[in-house]
Amino acid sequence: MAHEDCIFCKIVNGEIPSAKVYEDEFVYAFLDISQVTKGHTLIVPKTHTKNIYETPPEVAKELFARVPKIANAIKETYKPIGMNLLNNNEKAADQSVFHLHIHLIPRYGQDDGFR
Ligand code: 5GP
Ligand code: ZN
Repeated sequence: MAHEDCIFCKIVNGEIPSAKVYEDEFVYAFLDISQVTKGHTLIVPKTHTKNIYETPPEVAKELFARVPKIANAIKETYKPIGMNLLNNNEKAADQSVFHLHIHLIPRYGQDDGFR
């Protein structure tokens, strides 16, 4: 169910445009609007869930099951030499959008600007 005023629900529903990386019945992946490195991607479940604390195991299972496939697609397209996965939960941990998401951050070496 879409959550009112949630920007990622609006992205999933196509109400806010995004650069799609991958989509199926359970997840939507799109480029982060503020790329920390080239190809920085967010994966979200289509079901609204605030963060990891409130995520039912079956939603987590479907979401994480797709990470390798999407990571490989990004690897293929952008040819990074490494990749960080990141998930922020609650404000104190830098969560700014309260719809669960995993960051995939391709890494290109010491000078890629991340960290
Ligand atoms: P958080 O800080 O919650 O872990 O990550 C939220 C991410 O969502 C940020 O990296 C931010 O750049 C990204 N973001 C916020 N609004 C939008 C948007 O409207 N479109 C896209 N593509 N990314 C967004
Ligand atoms: Zn949402």
